[in-house]
Amino acid sequence: RASAQRSEDVIQRYMEVVAEVPEEDCIICMDQLSNPSSYDMPSSEEAGQSILPETVGKFIKCGHTLHMLCMLAMYNNGTKDGSLQCPSCKTIYGEKTGTQPKGKMEIYSVAQSLPGHPDCGTIQIIYSIPPGIQGPEHPNPGQPYTCRGFPRFCFLPDNDKGRKVLELLKVAWMRRLIFTVGTSSTTGEQDTVVWNGIHHKTEMMSNLSGHGYPDPNYLENVLSELASQGVTEDCLKP
Ligand code: NAD
Ligand code: ZN
Ligand code: ZN
Repeated sequence: RASAQRSEDVIQRYMEVVAEVPEEDCIICMDQLSNPSSYDMPSSEEAGQSILPETVGKFIKCGHTLHMLCMLAMYNNGTKDGSLQCPSCKTIYGEKTGTQPKGKMEIYSVAQSLPGHPDCGTIQIIYSIPPGIQGPEHPNPGQPYTCRGFPRFCFLPDNDKGRKVLELLKVAWMRRLIFTVGTSSTTGEQDTVVWNGIHHKTEMMSNLSGHGYPDPNYLENVLSELASQGVTEDCLKP
């Protein structure tokens, strides 16, 4: 895990201190940037501290400004994976990872075509996740989590775009972004393994759930969901 690095170093890798404080509000604490952040520096990090309550930082790519201490508090509240996400525009700095529990992702090829994709075969993905105990990154550490409807079967057209989506889904799986532990919006069950915002097609020849084919926009939609988690074609370059 990349979490061995100090939180303060992660903030300073992706934000620079601004000298002229803009007359804006901090998007995290909603107070004016010219007022100090009301977050306290975690005591474990006080030694050698350089992020002060009045320090205002600017993200190096998107340029959004906020209290650096507010951003540090937000980082310390999350998975602390060495990545930051701008709370204004959602730009990701570093490699965002999720909290997907242990399991396996298998890929098969099926000769039959999907509705709407008559010219190619089908890629079948099978996700298997067994029940387990929640870790510190989950909502209720030490408590069990359940796994409903596993193994889950998912389908992609076996064409260029479908294969690209498959490669990006493999990256998302490695980064633990496909599932999370939480409350199922379908069943209301808590402490269970649920999809994490990257839509999958779980029906091959029918569309009873609305998560089936045909859906001419599906591949574009899932590409943008992957991108919003930081998984883009750049991740496939050597
Ligand atoms: P959820 O209900 O919290 O929803 C999270 C996201 O997943 C939402 O965006 C939702 O639109 C999407 N989603 C909901 N049902 C889906 C489905 N059948 N296929 C693909 N995407 C779906 O997520 P959840 O609790 O993980 O899944 C919803 C329910 O669907 C669960 O009860 C699960 O058991 C069941 N399910 C069963 C299978 C199966 O193969 N038997 C596959 C997927 C989901
Ligand atoms: Zn603030
Ligand atoms: Zn931004």
